Amino acid sequence: MQRDSDKDSYAAMLAAVQAFHTKHDFKSTGGEELIYRVALMAEELGEVSACVSKGKPRDELAEEVADLMILLMGTAIAAKFDLNSAFWQKMNKLMLREARMVNGRIRVSEFRTK
Ligand SMILES: [Mg+2]
Repeated sequence: MQRDSDKDSYAAMLAAVQAFHTKHDFKSTGGEELIYRVALMAEELGEVSACVSKGKPRDELAEEVADLMILLMGTAIAAKFDLNSAFWQKMNKLMLREARMVNGRIRVSEFRTK
């Protein structure tokens, strides 16, 4: 069972998602097929979008974002990559990028010039 002290640990979260996959045997029941997982992630992103566009309460938005996060972590399990490491590599890259205002909103990108 999850201890409160583990709740901030990526490893503990990943282990919980792995336990969910194992419980329902996702590996041999299609639950780890990437094309299916992409559809599920799109579905959850739609639910996040509906929360925002329909002005639903913050706790409903938090639950839908959590759904998406669980799917993202499960996709890392399914596709056998280290999401923790990918996160930090990308975060470090993003921190070095420049920001510009585009149509009144900030955009952080590589801004390739032709
Ligand atoms: Mg949902």
